[in-house]
Amino acid sequence: MLGNLINNDGELHEECGVFGIFGVEDAANLAYYGLHALQHRGQEGCGIVAAGGGEFSTYKGEGLVTEIFNEKTLNLLEGNAAIGHVRYSTAGGGGIKNVQPFVFRHHTGTFALAHNGNLVNSQELSKYLEDRGSLFQSTSDSEILAHLIKKESDKAARLYNIIDALNMIEGAFAFLILTEDSLFACRDKYGLRPLSIGKLNGGWVVSSETCALDTVGAKFLRDVNPGEIVAFSKNGITSADYSQFKHNYLCAMEYIYFSRPDSDLEACNVHTFRKNSGKLLYEEAPIDADVVVGVPDSSLSAAVGYAEASGIPYELGLVKNKYVGRTFIQPSQNMREKGVRMKLSAVRSIVAGKRVVLIDDSLVRGTTSRRIVALLREVGAKKIHVRIASPQITHPCFYGVDTSTFDELMSAHKNIEQVREAIGADTLAFLSESALYKAGNRKELCLSCFNGNYPTSLYQSISEANKDGKF
Ligand code: SF4
Repeated sequence: MLGNLINNDGELHEECGVFGIFGVEDAANLAYYGLHALQHRGQEGCGIVAAGGGEFSTYKGEGLVTEIFNEKTLNLLEGNAAIGHVRYSTAGGGGIKNVQPFVFRHHTGTFALAHNGNLVNSQELSKYLEDRGSLFQSTSDSEILAHLIKKESDKAARLYNIIDALNMIEGAFAFLILTEDSLFACRDKYGLRPLSIGKLNGGWVVSSETCALDTVGAKFLRDVNPGEIVAFSKNGITSADYSQFKHNYLCAMEYIYFSRPDSDLEACNVHTFRKNSGKLLYEEAPIDADVVVGVPDSSLSAAVGYAEASGIPYELGLVKNKYVGRTFIQPSQNMREKGVRMKLSAVRSIVAGKRVVLIDDSLVRGTTSRRIVALLREVGAKKIHVRIASPQITHPCFYGVDTSTFDELMSAHKNIEQVREAIGADTLAFLSESALYKAGNRKELCLSCFNGNYPTSLYQSISEANKDGKF
């Protein structure tokens, strides 16, 4: 169910963020603040489902959290439990029908579901379910889990239905499932997508990132483990392993680019990881220069690390316009040629006549790097040495990040020298894979988009990613 995931801003996008809360008054109001803290993980749509006294109430729409919710709409969502979702419309496409959470009504009980990630066996499972009479309301593969849960439903407890369903799906996921009396938090057995638990006023909070726990005043308790399902109910918190296969292949891009610098992922702070990666980048690719400049915002921590390790001063050579939103009318090619640039500006007095080390977190399609190098040259940079705080991205991601084909990745068909030439830099270097392990003090990480070693089976995904057979 992978769509054609091209976006035209040249940047990587995460698919989603999830937030859940159980056993706390005004759950929907807190979910609003939690989702706002996760807004960077998806800006296309958002929703909250609240539950209380057996009743479910839902509100969702296409747009930012602040655009969709207000006091009036939040007041419609009653109960002391809620789950919420922010979405970037990739897998399954956009539209309101794909905005989560989804609510499913069944004779064994109503439940709501929110998902971050991507299933790799969705085509096989949807065919299996359709052959057995399931009708899908959306094109999102998140709905597949719900149909699997319903299919398995009988008199058994909901927990066992969910465990059976989780054992049929393959891929990357952090699922939140809200029933009439419980909240379930589940994480894929590979540990690809993050999910953390916090404690708040006698209840619990679950979030894709710890920054949202801090926002609502929750105290971090622990991460949901790979292959684990955690249940919250009036009886407290219980846990079960739905799989004995367990790995900690957390998506390296969560550290490199997606997550907020104030989040901690599996006991490593994101800013600290990036700063360490900048230091290691200097050790691996030193250069004599006058100034270190980071691409705002996600590369600033790595730029600080490179500057500290090298002794070259860190300067604010690029400034981002924070108000270029989702609905902003992007300049046409004609306007761009006239010099209209909305997202980034170079600070002439910092850059002119200088040898610049430009730090970027990653290089995907290469379009952004090419534009930034050109921008720095226009304001008079003497030399531009590009240093990328991650390895070359040579393979698509099938785990919930919007690179689904080889064709859209510059490094899939160019070596480092060819990439340097394409982006117009004087020199170019990438960080090694081993440095990423070192930066996070980790033994395992998903590095599939850098090396093609995918931890899961891929089913049809890899051949779809290479439809034209060029790779
Ligand atoms: S392939 Fe890359 S982007 Fe996808 S989960 Fe792995 S590290 Fe993250």
